[in-house]
Amino acid sequence: MPDLAPYAVCDGNSRGRAVAEPRPKVRSEFQRDRDRIVHSTAFRRLEYKTQVFVNHEGDLFRTRLTHSIEVAQIARTVARALELNDDLAEAIALAHDLGHTPFGHAGQDALNECMQGHGGFEHNLQSLRIVDRLEERYGAFDGLNLMFETREGILKHCSPARARELGDLGLRFIDGRRPTLEAQICNLADEIAYNNHDVDDGLRSGVLTLELLQDVSLFTRHAAEVSAEFPSIAGRRRVHETIRRMIDAQVTDLLSESARRIAAAAPGTLEDVRSAAELIGFSAAMTEENRALKGFLREHLYRHYEVLRMTAKARRVIHDLFGAFVANPRLLPPQYQAMAAAGTIERTTADYIAGMTDRYSMREHRRLFAVSEF
Ligand code: MG
Repeated sequence: MPDLAPYAVCDGNSRGRAVAEPRPKVRSEFQRDRDRIVHSTAFRRLEYKTQVFVNHEGDLFRTRLTHSIEVAQIARTVARALELNDDLAEAIALAHDLGHTPFGHAGQDALNECMQGHGGFEHNLQSLRIVDRLEERYGAFDGLNLMFETREGILKHCSPARARELGDLGLRFIDGRRPTLEAQICNLADEIAYNNHDVDDGLRSGVLTLELLQDVSLFTRHAAEVSAEFPSIAGRRRVHETIRRMIDAQVTDLLSESARRIAAAAPGTLEDVRSAAELIGFSAAMTEENRALKGFLREHLYRHYEVLRMTAKARRVIHDLFGAFVANPRLLPPQYQAMAAAGTIERTTADYIAGMTDRYSMREHRRLFAVSEF
């Protein structure tokens, strides 16, 4: 590993694991975290969970798995360039979406509605719940027993009320302190990844068109560059060459602005990072271009009628499943019946549904509601 900055997270300044374990023999502690995440059940399920387009609509669209890999790639690049811990950045990125329900945000909103009065449902907290409690792989502890800073990075946001229940991990949301720079990088790597791949998937699906994108300066700027440099390329190749330049421009901007802020704040330790203002960020100009791109995607992609149809159906599936299990807990698989007996039927049902892939939830829905299928 190249030399790390004094304010980077390392094994030596980490707050460690909840359950003490012997140090890994050949890996760093954060490499071990990354490897545990890759071997988890929740990680494999990401392959069959929707990002924007439902999983079975086409084999080329992003899923939560490929999204998470793209986030990890960007986060690693930025972390390494800033002499930060790229193993930690990679671990956080690969785990950041583990708690997502089937059917993307529509699924999370529906499950949150179901859980009103029972503590609500938030995918971010669910990701933490998976790595802290729900994964059953190790003899000595529940969950993955990850390092404090990996868990902290997974918990991107949190209400102050909820934060009070989380002990040490929730403190920063109460006293207004910052997470590690590695965690800050993952938040923005996530944004870079989804904004750009949603343009790509949107175009591929035909929901977005090049004409519509004429309003987005980040796209037109780079599309014009591509046309000038390669007058004869067209179609998918032109789109890909444009999007890769958009990603490069955003990453380059993030690196230079963050390096500038770090130099100005001159943190000496990880503690200085926690009490400083946010040190990882885009320039004002790129922030504005990103805001415009997000607004465009909200208007033309996330609210497109075909996407909304999928969303409406997803809500129905989640509401139906939740209602059926809560009304009759004996319909749950035995392992979940045992969990419900030890906790609440609502939270157990939320854990069960959140863990489902898109297609598994549809299959469960058919099994419970389709008269033609038993
Ligand atoms: Mg994400």
